[in-house]
Amino acid sequence: MADFTLYLKYKGGSRDSLEKAVTLLKAYLPKVVEKNANFSGSNAVLVDDGTTPTLAETDVIVYVVRNISKSVISAKGGSVALAEANENVLGLTDISKKISEVYFDRLYEGSPKELSGAAFHEAAHIKSNMDNSMHTGQDGFLKASPDYNGSPTDDNNKFLAKHLDRKVTMNGSY
Ligand SMILES: [Zn+2]
Repeated sequence: MADFTLYLKYKGGSRDSLEKAVTLLKAYLPKVVEKNANFSGSNAVLVDDGTTPTLAETDVIVYVVRNISKSVISAKGGSVALAEANENVLGLTDISKKISEVYFDRLYEGSPKELSGAAFHEAAHIKSNMDNSMHTGQDGFLKASPDYNGSPTDDNNKFLAKHLDRKVTMNGSY
């Protein structure tokens, strides 16, 4: 029996928003792990820049950067063209480079609600190993234009739970 931990790494933006987003994720994630018998618990953790957490193979880390120019994906040679083309995109996941990130300047007034939702959304991308095809047939937090009001829907939780066992082995040192 394992725990699933979702790390938010602070690279820019408001640290206070990250703290509040972590609190929200701590409320969301138990409803995910309860749907996967291989997991017994969950956690959400704020990581400061310059700190490298020890990730389990199944854990997820989402980098929170100030804006696209600070993209970790770009810095590691990936493309953020999707986000450049659509300013409603709050975050991106590069499934081959195994990097998930959220752009703080795109959150409405630094909303922790949107930040927690965007982190949940990007976690679903990396865990499902699906690009935009993930959005098909989804509602709530996981559709193409996500609604981060309220909480993840039951279907959102089922989807993430279904993919929770995937060993993504993400790099927490960026
Ligand atoms: Zn998406």
